[in-house]
Amino acid sequence: MKDVARVIVTYDCPRNCPNCCNEHIGDVPAVKFEDLLKYKELVITGGEPMEIAPRVVEMIHRLQANGYNGKLWLYTSCLKTTKWADRAVLQAVNGITYTLHHKPSQKDLSDVCKLNKYLLENLDNRAHDRSDRLLIDSRCYTEEVLRIIGLYDTGTKHWSSIKPLEWKDDECPIPDNEELIYYDLERV
Ligand code: SF4
Repeated sequence: MKDVARVIVTYDCPRNCPNCCNEHIGDVPAVKFEDLLKYKELVITGGEPMEIAPRVVEMIHRLQANGYNGKLWLYTSCLKTTKWADRAVLQAVNGITYTLHHKPSQKDLSDVCKLNKYLLENLDNRAHDRSDRLLIDSRCYTEEVLRIIGLYDTGTKHWSSIKPLEWKDDECPIPDNEELIYYDLERV
């Protein structure tokens, strides 16, 4: 067993990206809740975990109630700081990796803008022990997009990193130290 589990909690995602990673990953072993407790770190992913954010909040509380004290991370591209459950997950994890995908809508840009401001004002990694990363699809990594999401106003130091993401069809590598598993949070 590896130290880190990348946990798919749902396959649902509103984005429908062409060549979504989940089309290429094959069978992912399904695990029970007790299995999650064995890992040192859990990376919560999907699909889009924030589609079922209240259930993710409940899962995190259940992990903590069962003595889990490992690190928790979140991979998302749809976190809305206007929703209580999204904020609760954001505050409960050690950090997020947020991806702004190609051809973002005005709403997508507005959501990232609000997230950027929320992190600066509430969860700045310089004051909190966090690691928040922003990935922007290289096809929309432009000065205009960086301006719209507010990075020229706020600066970037409250993010651990901001990088362009090269979209590669058919390539979704998992780091060597991570194990991909499926925990069906929709049925819990
Ligand atoms: S955002 Fe991620 S999970 Fe959703 S369709 Fe795109 S690649 Fe797939």
